[in-house]
Amino acid sequence: MKFVSTRGNAPAVSASEAILQGLAPDGGLYVPTYFPQLEMRILANTSSYGELAYEVLAPFFEGDVLEGELAEICMEAFDFPLPIHWHNAKEAVLELYWGPTAAFKDFGARFLAIAMQRLLQKRDQKLTILVATSGDTGGAVAAAFHQRAGIGVKVLYPQGKVSQRQEKQLTCWGDNIEAYSVDGVFDDCQKMVKEAFMDSSLVEEWGLSSANSINLGRLLPQVVYAFYTALEVFHQTGAVPTLIVPSGNVGNSCGTYWAKEMGAPIKQIVLALNANRSVLDYIENGQFEKRNSIATLANAMDVGNPSNMERLMHLYNGWEAFKSEVSAYSVSDELILETIAKVWHEKNYVICPHTATGEYVRGQLTEEGPTVVYATAHPAKFETIVEPIVGHSIPIPPQLALLLDKESYVKNIGVNYKELF
Ligand SMILES: *Cc1c(COP(=O)(O)O)cnc(C)c1O
Repeated sequence: MKFVSTRGNAPAVSASEAILQGLAPDGGLYVPTYFPQLEMRILANTSSYGELAYEVLAPFFEGDVLEGELAEICMEAFDFPLPIHWHNAKEAVLELYWGPTAAFKDFGARFLAIAMQRLLQKRDQKLTILVATSGDTGGAVAAAFHQRAGIGVKVLYPQGKVSQRQEKQLTCWGDNIEAYSVDGVFDDCQKMVKEAFMDSSLVEEWGLSSANSINLGRLLPQVVYAFYTALEVFHQTGAVPTLIVPSGNVGNSCGTYWAKEMGAPIKQIVLALNANRSVLDYIENGQFEKRNSIATLANAMDVGNPSNMERLMHLYNGWEAFKSEVSAYSVSDELILETIAKVWHEKNYVICPHTATGEYVRGQLTEEGPTVVYATAHPAKFETIVEPIVGHSIPIPPQLALLLDKESYVKNIGVNYKELF
């Protein structure tokens, strides 16, 4: 299997090469040359999530240097539970937050980290990963790369602009993970990373690389749980589900569309957006415009220019095709708060602000069949928003509690990328 750039001006590469490169040399994103059709019978007979992941991903790694190690990588990466919670016979929630940092990004970050480590060992190469984060991504990347030989990680975050719990997930690691609290805002952190990447002697000396959400290694694992959910729901209800995906950079939803292309029994996919609605505007008027991001309560979805939109637009050639396949709703902060309260009172179930966009969208659909909302983060990560609404303190999941008890290691620096090295 080969992967090509969405912009069509880069050589076709293997999955491993795409993972090491991140972005294609022409500035595009890597997509598979075709979507392998999977046999549901084989998938239905797998006995663990890791095994299912292997079956789903194997065609993408056919002929790749990691082909023989893929089963091991899947077993190691996906070693935490993935429960499906049923509100009732038709409405389910996929709890994607039982990984080390309690958000779905652990799936992609762990797979990427393990694959990269193995690739570097083969090449006897070292890397330094730079991540600027406004919250969730940095924690998932730090956790996934912690103590991986040959890979250093520098995480930059804006001082005083992330929640206490988020900060702890960035600073609790030590060893090969260095956290930098930058005296500036998130845009300053991103600017410093970009400047470092433009400094070619630094790139060379440190082997600078990135682990952001456009990396193929983060997208592929998101194809797997779409398959898993669709198969489980089909098995349990005999009907094909509609999947509702809270979306920002649209990586999670793109993985779900890829699963559908590969034959996963999915009826429809619906994107739940917060006030950042550039995908919805494109569906409505055919113009895709980058916007500045708007701050909302579902802050991990505050994206004005979704980076994976290029992959989705590549999948559906032209606006007509796009809007016939992709549907989206935009959900205000007010409705997010109302929905957290409603789901708590009616279903006795606590959700985070991101998941609330999905639950709100479910309420808007006139869908006869089963629906599944992706729960993208554990509500305990957003306790200052959720606890006043539900009126009790939310127990911290054990994996997160472990991190919150650790010591912090952090350096305070100014807005100058040279202070990172
Ligand atoms: C990153 C994130 C999202 C958005 O996912 P995309 O793949 O960027 O669309 C939604 N919810 C949470 C909790 C996240 O961390």
